[in-house]
Amino acid sequence: MKRVILDLLKDCYEDEAAHLELRMIRDAQQPRFEALKESHPEIYRDFMSARNTWHEILLRNRRKRVDILTKIVEGQIGSNKLEIICDSCKKELEKKGGLLFGPPDSNDMAKKTHLCVVCYEKIIGEIVRRD
Ligand SMILES: [Zn+2]
Repeated sequence: MKRVILDLLKDCYEDEAAHLELRMIRDAQQPRFEALKESHPEIYRDFMSARNTWHEILLRNRRKRVDILTKIVEGQIGSNKLEIICDSCKKELEKKGGLLFGPPDSNDMAKKTHLCVVCYEKIIGEIVRRD
Protein backbone atom coordinates (compact mmCIF):
# COMPACT_ATOMS: atom_id res chain seq x y z
CA MET A 1 0.00 0.00 0.00
CA LYS A 2 2.80 2.41 0.96
CA ARG A 3 4.41 1.74 -2.45
CA VAL A 4 1.17 2.75 -4.25
CA ILE A 5 0.86 5.93 -2.19
CA LEU A 6 4.48 6.91 -2.81
CA ASP A 7 3.96 6.25 -6.54
CA LEU A 8 0.93 8.58 -6.58
CA LEU A 9 2.93 11.22 -4.73
CA LYS A 10 5.73 10.88 -7.27
CA ASP A 11 3.16 11.44 -10.06
CA CYS A 12 2.02 14.63 -8.32
CA TYR A 13 5.59 15.96 -8.25
CA GLU A 14 5.99 14.99 -11.89
CA ASP A 15 2.85 17.07 -12.60
CA GLU A 16 4.43 19.93 -10.68
CA ALA A 17 7.63 19.69 -12.78
CA ALA A 18 5.58 19.56 -16.01
CA HIS A 19 3.65 22.60 -14.83
CA LEU A 20 6.89 24.52 -14.26
CA GLU A 21 7.98 23.65 -17.83
CA LEU A 22 4.68 25.03 -19.12
CA ARG A 23 5.17 28.22 -17.13
CA MET A 24 8.63 28.70 -18.63
CA ILE A 25 7.13 28.37 -22.11
CA ARG A 26 4.39 30.79 -21.13
CA ASP A 27 6.88 33.32 -19.75
CA ALA A 28 9.02 33.05 -22.91
CA GLN A 29 5.89 33.74 -25.00
CA GLN A 30 4.68 36.55 -22.75
CA PRO A 31 5.43 39.47 -25.13
CA ARG A 32 3.70 37.71 -28.06
CA PHE A 33 0.84 36.72 -25.79
CA GLU A 34 0.40 40.31 -24.58
CA ALA A 35 0.33 41.43 -28.22
CA LEU A 36 -2.75 39.23 -28.72
CA LYS A 37 -4.64 41.57 -26.41
CA GLU A 38 -4.57 44.12 -29.24
CA SER A 39 -4.57 41.95 -32.34
CA HIS A 40 -6.88 39.07 -31.24
CA PRO A 41 -8.67 40.06 -28.02
CA GLU A 42 -11.01 37.05 -28.20
CA ILE A 43 -8.03 34.59 -28.14
CA TYR A 44 -6.44 36.52 -25.29
CA ARG A 45 -9.71 36.47 -23.36
CA ASP A 46 -10.22 32.72 -23.86
CA PHE A 47 -6.68 31.93 -22.69
CA MET A 48 -7.01 34.14 -19.61
CA SER A 49 -10.37 32.61 -18.81
CA ALA A 50 -8.92 29.07 -19.07
CA ARG A 51 -5.99 30.06 -16.89
CA ASN A 52 -8.29 31.40 -14.18
CA THR A 53 -10.76 28.52 -14.24
CA TRP A 54 -9.66 25.10 -15.56
CA HIS A 55 -6.03 25.68 -14.73
CA GLU A 56 -6.93 26.70 -11.15
CA ILE A 57 -9.02 23.55 -10.75
CA LEU A 58 -6.04 21.40 -11.80
CA LEU A 59 -3.77 23.19 -9.33
CA ARG A 60 -6.25 23.00 -6.48
CA ASN A 61 -6.89 19.29 -6.97
CA ARG A 62 -3.19 18.51 -7.17
CA ARG A 63 -2.56 20.42 -3.91
CA LYS A 64 -5.35 18.42 -2.29
CA ARG A 65 -3.86 15.11 -3.51
CA VAL A 66 -0.38 16.04 -2.30
CA ASP A 67 -1.77 17.06 1.13
CA ILE A 68 -3.74 13.87 1.64
CA LEU A 69 -1.00 11.57 0.32
CA THR A 70 1.64 13.31 2.45
CA LYS A 71 -0.50 12.89 5.57
CA ILE A 72 -0.99 9.19 4.79
CA VAL A 73 2.73 8.63 4.19
CA GLU A 74 3.73 10.57 7.33
CA GLY A 75 1.13 8.71 9.35
CA GLN A 76 2.60 5.40 8.25
CA ILE A 77 6.25 6.31 8.57
CA GLY A 78 5.77 8.35 11.74
CA SER A 79 3.85 5.62 13.53
CA ASN A 80 5.94 3.75 16.10
CA LYS A 81 3.22 1.21 16.76
CA LEU A 82 4.68 -2.28 16.87
CA GLU A 83 1.29 -3.94 16.30
CA ILE A 84 2.37 -6.94 18.35
CA ILE A 85 0.13 -8.39 21.06
CA CYS A 86 1.66 -9.80 24.24
CA ASP A 87 0.79 -13.52 24.33
CA SER A 88 0.43 -13.37 28.11
CA CYS A 89 -1.63 -10.24 28.96
CA LYS A 90 -2.99 -9.74 25.38
CA LYS A 91 -2.18 -6.01 25.40
CA GLU A 92 -0.42 -4.34 22.48
CA LEU A 93 3.32 -3.87 23.00
CA GLU A 94 4.21 -0.19 23.41
CA LYS A 95 7.93 -0.90 23.21
CA LYS A 96 9.97 -3.91 22.22
CA GLY A 97 9.51 -6.75 24.67
CA GLY A 98 10.82 -10.29 25.04
CA LEU A 99 10.57 -13.40 22.88
CA LEU A 100 10.22 -16.98 24.06
CA PHE A 101 10.99 -19.74 21.57
CA GLY A 102 9.53 -23.21 22.00
CA PRO A 103 11.26 -26.45 21.08
CA PRO A 104 11.38 -27.16 17.32
CA ASP A 105 8.60 -29.34 15.91
CA SER A 106 9.00 -32.10 13.29
CA ASN A 107 9.48 -29.42 10.61
CA ASP A 108 12.15 -27.75 12.71
CA MET A 109 9.81 -24.82 13.32
CA ALA A 110 9.82 -23.22 16.78
CA LYS A 111 6.75 -21.49 18.18
CA LYS A 112 7.52 -17.87 18.99
CA THR A 113 5.84 -16.23 21.98
CA HIS A 114 5.79 -12.43 22.31
CA LEU A 115 5.93 -10.93 25.80
CA CYS A 116 5.57 -7.31 26.83
CA VAL A 117 8.23 -5.91 29.19
CA VAL A 118 6.01 -6.37 32.28
CA CYS A 119 5.07 -9.97 31.48
CA TYR A 120 8.63 -10.81 30.49
CA GLU A 121 9.90 -9.68 33.91
CA LYS A 122 7.15 -11.67 35.67
CA ILE A 123 7.74 -14.83 33.66
CA ILE A 124 11.54 -14.72 33.65
CA GLY A 125 11.42 -14.21 37.44
CA GLU A 126 9.42 -17.46 37.75
CA ILE A 127 11.40 -19.68 35.42
CA VAL A 128 15.02 -18.58 35.79
CA ARG A 129 16.81 -18.98 39.09
CA ARG A 130 19.30 -16.27 39.80
CA ASP A 131 21.27 -17.35 42.89
ZN1 LIG B 1 2.05 -8.67 28.73
